[in-house]
Amino acid sequence: MKGFAMLEVGKVGWIEKDKPVCGPLDAIVKPIALAPCTSDVHTVWEGAVGERHDMILGHECCGEVVEVGELVKDFKPGDRVLVPAITPDWNSLEAQGGYSMHSGGMLAGWKFSNFKDGVFGEYFHVNDPDGNIALLPKEIEPEEACMLSDMVPTGFHGAELADVQFGDEVLVIGIGPVGLMSVAGANLRGASRIFAVGSRPVCVEAAKFYGATDFVNYKNGPIAKQVLEMTGGAGVDKVIIAGGTVDTFAEAVECLKPGGKIGNVNYLGSGDNVKIPRVEWGVGMGHKQIQGGLMPGGRLRMEKLAKLVVCGKLDLSKLITHRFEGFEHVEDALFLMKDKPVDLIKPVVRVNK
Ligand code: NDP
Ligand code: ZN
Repeated sequence: MKGFAMLEVGKVGWIEKDKPVCGPLDAIVKPIALAPCTSDVHTVWEGAVGERHDMILGHECCGEVVEVGELVKDFKPGDRVLVPAITPDWNSLEAQGGYSMHSGGMLAGWKFSNFKDGVFGEYFHVNDPDGNIALLPKEIEPEEACMLSDMVPTGFHGAELADVQFGDEVLVIGIGPVGLMSVAGANLRGASRIFAVGSRPVCVEAAKFYGATDFVNYKNGPIAKQVLEMTGGAGVDKVIIAGGTVDTFAEAVECLKPGGKIGNVNYLGSGDNVKIPRVEWGVGMGHKQIQGGLMPGGRLRMEKLAKLVVCGKLDLSKLITHRFEGFEHVEDALFLMKDKPVDLIKPVVRVNK
């Protein structure tokens, strides 16, 4: 079969591989629609997961089941399914401890295009489909379904990590597709003011649509200075980080009220240390909590998030700015994601009916 792969760090291309083999507890799925992710860009061009050779990329898609192992109960060939980016081993000790995303080791619940071939192939392998995939509701179009693989669960996980509560004033740093879903997640959890940090007008417009009330352009000066001015010096209750660098934590801690919480879902690609400013952290006694996490993955989360779309509480159409038809355009879509033109939020490729 054909797949679009990372050949080595810094290099991508089309390759031929054997179709994946279906074990008793596995499924083989062919993609219906695919989306590249900023994480694919980090994987290839920043070597984020280390060196990989001829590894098929991609972890965002929806698909059609073509084969299931004899121990799979709930899915059969022909089922159209949602596929999460993170597919944990649900009987691992880590999952039993509540950290499914780290099943088998740090971040090891993330298997596609990390420990095995990803979804940018004619077929791909899913471990434990009963625990990891969900039926694609007919009300959700396949392109939008791709947003449920990673953008929605990751953005929402940021809101969970920051523990957003009714009436909280929330700062969302970074409003690419992940941060936009953090805005939407914070809004659904009952935030009052939502401050959105970004610079591109297309993202600012989308943030407004998803519930942001105030806007901060990080290119106009320090985020903390701007947010403190906008809140009369008080700061915010919660911060979700979905963009920026190791230095962004200093800004986030500065913006936070005592007792506030930071949820980070941003990938930190460089720098040895995360910066926490001593005085603004209450000289060690400010009760300002920081949590960073990979989204949990799995079937239940997929099913619940899909219900938000089906019942009209979450409109994913605003995330998709570029649409392609045909498998060969996976390459164009990935390069769009790499180059981030000013009008891009998320590209999607329809590959099968
Ligand atoms: P994008 O690159 O599309 O968006 C990044 C956002 O951050 C943009 O709004 C950008 O603003 C803003 N930004 C850039 N630099 C700064 C800065 N110095 N200070 C403040 N804001 C800044 O990324 P995605 O939304 O696709 O992904 C966000 C992050 O989440 C990535 O690091 C990605 O790897 C990670 N990720 C994490 C996952 C997880 O499970 N934890 C899963 C998937 C992704 P603008 O462009 O408007 O100038
Ligand atoms: Zn992704």
